[in-house]
Amino acid sequence: FVFFSSDIEISRAQSPKAVDVLAKEIGLLTDEVEIYGQTKAKVRLSLLERLKDQPDGKYVLVAGITPTPLGEGKSTVTIGLVQALTAHLNINSFACLRQPSQGPTFGVKGGAAGGGYAQVIPMEEFNLHLTGDIHAITAANNLLAAAIDARILHENTQSDKALYNRLVPVVNGVRGFSAIQLARLRRLGISKTDPGTLTEEEINKFARLDIDPSTITWQRVVDTNDRFLRKITVGQANTEKGFVRQAQFDIAVASEIMAILALTTSLQDMKERLGKMVVANDKKGEPITAEDLGVTGALAVLMKDAIKPTLMQTLEGTPVFVHAGPFANIAHGNSSVLADKIALKLVGEKGFVVTEAGFGADIGMEKFFNIKCRASGLVPSVVVLVATVRALKMHGGGPNVKDLMYLTISINFYLIAQNLQLVADGCCNLQKQIQITQLFGVPVVVALNVFKTDSPAEIDLVCKIAKQSGAFDAVPCNHWSAGGRGAVKLAQAVERAANQKNNFKYLYSLELPIVEKIRIIAQKVYGAQDIELSPTAQSQVDRYTRQGFGNLPICMAKTHLSLSHQPERKGVPTGFILPISDVRASIGAGFIYPLVGTMSTMPGLPTRPCFYDIDLDPITEQVKGLF
Ligand code: ADP
Repeated sequence: FVFFSSDIEISRAQSPKAVDVLAKEIGLLTDEVEIYGQTKAKVRLSLLERLKDQPDGKYVLVAGITPTPLGEGKSTVTIGLVQALTAHLNINSFACLRQPSQGPTFGVKGGAAGGGYAQVIPMEEFNLHLTGDIHAITAANNLLAAAIDARILHENTQSDKALYNRLVPVVNGVRGFSAIQLARLRRLGISKTDPGTLTEEEINKFARLDIDPSTITWQRVVDTNDRFLRKITVGQANTEKGFVRQAQFDIAVASEIMAILALTTSLQDMKERLGKMVVANDKKGEPITAEDLGVTGALAVLMKDAIKPTLMQTLEGTPVFVHAGPFANIAHGNSSVLADKIALKLVGEKGFVVTEAGFGADIGMEKFFNIKCRASGLVPSVVVLVATVRALKMHGGGPNVKDLMYLTISINFYLIAQNLQLVADGCCNLQKQIQITQLFGVPVVVALNVFKTDSPAEIDLVCKIAKQSGAFDAVPCNHWSAGGRGAVKLAQAVERAANQKNNFKYLYSLELPIVEKIRIIAQKVYGAQDIELSPTAQSQVDRYTRQGFGNLPICMAKTHLSLSHQPERKGVPTGFILPISDVRASIGAGFIYPLVGTMSTMPGLPTRPCFYDIDLDPITEQVKGLF
């Protein structure tokens, strides 16, 4: 046996430089940085104004093949690549990563700081509360959820006049509308500003939102894999007077507010997006927004610090932005537009910004191009597609990994011994993910993330097949065991690929009907024969089209464990009909959100979650067991 240091031991063995030193090194001014402790700082958006005339650096996306449940090393490659570029090739670079959810950190997959000698440090800061952004999102999300149910109760238990008097209170002897209420009056076509002059009809129109409880799509969230909150009943106390309804919790990182944080381009834009979020319909079928509930300003206040990216560093002292963390299967799976934009200015024209799209290229990368790049207007120069021999063996017919314990057994049995046939057969998945990348017209470099157990013949075989399948280059990477030094060849390949001709294009036009856009993704990306909408999904499509939301991009919620909707189907499944069970809309974030098959928006804990290994030494205050 060979014993390796754990991720947290490697992280702890390296002392990070003080974050104010790092900030100075990358050219930030003192008043552009808000320090949180010694190793984290938030960066102010005023930077974008100061650097607006600076040309952008090259933009690199790291995506992957269909992974095992443990992940194939996209974060690790992202960090290894920037370590190679900056610390070994002397080229300015930045990694832009998502903040991990505490769901997987305490569940199955663990954290997302990378691993081995390619990590963001201190990894416990990165993987736990960071600078509180997910808590802010949770608070904002749940304030809105509380506002919806409270409003239904108050509207249904008070007369028009009583409701109006409470909504428009007397302050210092004067009844007055707030700015948000005046805006609502304008939307309703009422031009009066004196609350005493509204007619009874106008009072009714202003005071009653008339929310239809059966149409509420806004859910409460918490950042824990708590399967027992997948279906709940709210309002059971006597004080809620029988206003009981079935509801659910989603995981916080699937919240629309998280998606807004990831896609917004400024404080003003974020406020507008928060206000536009549709939470339900009224009884006439018209959409009810956060703005109608009067909560936009409060949500923006809760999110005002979260909008600033957090600066951290890699093990080799190179800069990293951590910002936003939507899941890639049930959300759009990419870190923030703002962090990318700031980093592209900071690295300068010859520099590189490397960001990661969650899960396989069919999921995170498709959404990166069709949703994130549409929101930012940025054009990526290169896609790095991460593959591992272990995942390729699984795709070639090796064990169909179900949970961690089983994987540990299978590592011994299948994944250590050389098996060229399994690898060759499994390369069909790599080939398909290369083809998916080519649909977008961007050059692709395959990064084979090397494990100690991979044989030279297996490594050569994967690189050969990748190049035959149309990759610009394919490079074995040893950053996990050797840090940036192990990814220098990858960095050089990426540099060469970035100078190639780029024919970037979106996969579909926004003007197409919703169903057509879903079909294009299903057929061209997943390889489905066709799609099939449930009656609920069809009526939601009709509703959103009628309400004028038909021209938004699509954010598919699909399993990440297969190109199809069935997690057990590995390799390249064919001949399947993709079932669309429901369709939701995130109007503030700006996408339509179809749910494929039995996709759940709240993960669960397995029998033996990671938290069994996580502990705190009360004497040294050291965290143990995070990975
Ligand atoms: P992804 O971003 O694709 O989900 P990660 O980079 O988070 O994957 O890696 C998943 C896990 O696998 C991490 O715990 C990491 O330490 C481990 N890992 C990644 N690459 C290697 C490698 N080459 N050898 C051993 N472990 C690795």
